[in-house]
Amino acid sequence: MTNLPNKPLIYDLDISQIGYSLASWSEPVYRASQIWNGLYVNLWNKPEQFTNLPLQLRNNLETYYSFSYLAPEIERHSIDRMTEKILFRLHDGEAVETVLMKYKTRAGKRERNTVCISTQVGCALGCIFCATGQMGFRRNLSSGEMIEQVLHYARHLRNYDQQITNIVVMGMGEPFLNYDEVMRAITQLNNSDGFNFGARRFTISTVGIIPGIRRFTSEHRQINLAVSLHAADNALRDKLIPINGKYPIEELLNACHDYVLETGRRITFEWALIEGVNDTTEQAHKLAQRLQLFRINSVTLCHVNVIQLNPTKQYDGTGTKTKQALIFQDIMERENIHCTVRTRRGIDIEAGCGQLVAEKTKIWLQK
Ligand code: SAH
Ligand code: SF4
Repeated sequence: MTNLPNKPLIYDLDISQIGYSLASWSEPVYRASQIWNGLYVNLWNKPEQFTNLPLQLRNNLETYYSFSYLAPEIERHSIDRMTEKILFRLHDGEAVETVLMKYKTRAGKRERNTVCISTQVGCALGCIFCATGQMGFRRNLSSGEMIEQVLHYARHLRNYDQQITNIVVMGMGEPFLNYDEVMRAITQLNNSDGFNFGARRFTISTVGIIPGIRRFTSEHRQINLAVSLHAADNALRDKLIPINGKYPIEELLNACHDYVLETGRRITFEWALIEGVNDTTEQAHKLAQRLQLFRINSVTLCHVNVIQLNPTKQYDGTGTKTKQALIFQDIMERENIHCTVRTRRGIDIEAGCGQLVAEKTKIWLQK
């Protein structure tokens, strides 16, 4: 039987919702745990794999639910094989990207495998340097569509006896503008009877949606938070990130400060270095000064991640050269602000947020 697009995606259901379906088919509720285990521990993605269930139930699952909304359409590996990227075609014809980044660690230590997932098709916020922003907003992803991105790579890595070690919510879209579905996905992946992925191994990146940060703060989750700053004053940030007009930098940093005070957790600031734009010593000093707010009892509860900009088609800024990136880092460190220069990953495969979709779906974008 084919997967009709109007069938609900099984990953959009939590275990109690699976239980309701079972009840409506007069099946015992304990079968919900078997299905859950099949989906999230065995990583099965076809009804026929559930051989521990009676045939009638397997048929019902097939008839009433879809086991996949995401069809891999383009898969790319970077030349060094350390970054992989997939463009998934969604059941309604839209497309999103998911990235796997592998990290070698010292001998004897477990390898790190970070999966970067998308939360929306496109993004409404239009940051000028971002390929996703350049394509505009199409729709939100459901929790199940986010979960399916993760399970895809979990299955892939299992073939090499490996596991996902970190999940970063840093792909296409603004997670805090799809808050409920993002948290549903994380909660479901965190479930200890299922995928059991520790909350501390998730990182959510937001462009700085203040109500989202405040809500996240009040919920006291163990998930890591990263905020995309990219400029140290409103004049520059307004130009790069239009939503700064609504959530200006002082208010944003106040919300971040409240988060740190209330949760005791460190926060990360992201900064894509653009040559001659935000990589100047003036911007670095301004940033370091602003972040003194996060030095609490001589401990700095923030971290700055700088990355050289990935070039995109519709923005003519270029990435800062390594020498200037190190000068920027040095200024931060001298002011007691931890700063890491992150290596650009998979630049040869358009691994930057939204770049592959932008490149490969021009016709789709012109609709
Ligand atoms: N909307 C969220 C998460 C998705 S973007 C956010 O903005 O934080 C994830 C990160 O990629 C953000 O820090 C974003 O600023 C950065 N980014 C976007 N385009 C980029 C590019 N061309 N080069 C480098 N980083 C980029
Ligand atoms: Fe949206 Fe983030 Fe891209 Fe800005 S950087 S357009 S918020 S995805």
